Amino acid sequence: MRDEDMTKEQLINELAELRQRLNQFTALESECRREAEALRLSEEKSSKAFRSSPDWIVISTLEDGRFIDVNDAFLRITGYRREEVIGRTAKQLGIWAEPDERDKMAAIIREHGKIRDHEARFCMKSGEIRIMLRSAEAIDLEGEKCIISVTHDITERKKAEEKIKIFAEELEKRNRELEQFAYIVSHDLQAPLITAGGYLRLLERRYKEKLDSKAGEFITNAIEGTVRMQSLIRSLLDYARVDTRARDFKLIEASAVLNQALGNLKALLDESGAVVKYDNLPEVRADPVLLSQVFQNLIGNAIKFRGDEPPVIHLSGEKKDKVWLFSVRDNGIGIPPEETGRIFEVFHRSHDKSKYQGTGIGLAICKKIIEHHGGSIRVESAPGKGSTFFFTIRDSSLI
Ligand code: ADP
Repeated sequence: MRDEDMTKEQLINELAELRQRLNQFTALESECRREAEALRLSEEKSSKAFRSSPDWIVISTLEDGRFIDVNDAFLRITGYRREEVIGRTAKQLGIWAEPDERDKMAAIIREHGKIRDHEARFCMKSGEIRIMLRSAEAIDLEGEKCIISVTHDITERKKAEEKIKIFAEELEKRNRELEQFAYIVSHDLQAPLITAGGYLRLLERRYKEKLDSKAGEFITNAIEGTVRMQSLIRSLLDYARVDTRARDFKLIEASAVLNQALGNLKALLDESGAVVKYDNLPEVRADPVLLSQVFQNLIGNAIKFRGDEPPVIHLSGEKKDKVWLFSVRDNGIGIPPEETGRIFEVFHRSHDKSKYQGTGIGLAICKKIIEHHGGSIRVESAPGKGSTFFFTIRDSSLI
């Protein structure tokens, strides 16, 4: 090969190499441009987040907490002006209510490079103390170790929590007072009532012959009054106890609870010849003693308010949306439509009081128990057509 041909070939090779390099440079340049744009975007995002964050953000030195930059939220919350803050240390501003907390936080950042949700109290310019949750990370700023921290104001949440705690304590205190009151009612009020009843009976026994028939009738009425008063007091106590007794919510077979209630009603069932039928009852989360009381009251009423036919009571329980819906249907005398809302009120009775015994508290107790189980109770009825009581219990899988 001749010399000039070699040079030509060399030139072609060099040109190809140059082209390749040029391509590499162009690729490198566009990559640099892309990175510069990404950096610009990231800086823009960071600075927008810094400026618009509702939480206060501070960049300060790790050593002594000298403020390098703060966002508007910091100025708004603390009440300081920017020029009062930049260049001064946390100690000089007295911003930590407990300065030891800053030392603790700095020590953790030195060791782990960051800290998360550190709760501390901060002193505002006005002297007001606010409770904050602070998360911070170490950063390097032109060779100096710094911290960037985000601080979230939780003062209102803490105040609300404190209020709830006070309310809960107050409620517990009231419950204890109510229990105490129930005790006083049962003992202190019943005692004079028993005494009065006792003396009335004595009067009846010893002086019956000496008094005229009218006086005898008065004494009988007075005795009945004391007996009735005692049963009303006992009913009120039962009603109050639903709130005060400790609850024992657990997964239970409703049919087992029903059998318990039927056991307690055995004498009444036998005497009335009542038939109780029930479908497959579900497993529910409930207090067994309270649920048994509901079954007992409803079945007891179905028997008490029976019609001419022997009582037939039908119970069922089915899933309806997010609750268990129970029903207790009877073939009794029924309830007038205008009374169906009122029968759940304390002491309200809809039928002839001389014919049907009772205190009118049973359904009020049922209502309270069901409400404690996150449910509600109602009745559908018509005179002579029987009644169906419906009550709901929250589905256990949702608790
Ligand atoms: P009590 O049975 O002591 O009267 P309740 O609170 O249990 O008190 O019931 C209130 C009233 O509701 C009853 O007096 C009665 O008038 C009516 N009632 C309750 N259950 C039935 C029922 N199954 N059939 C007809 N009426 C009923």
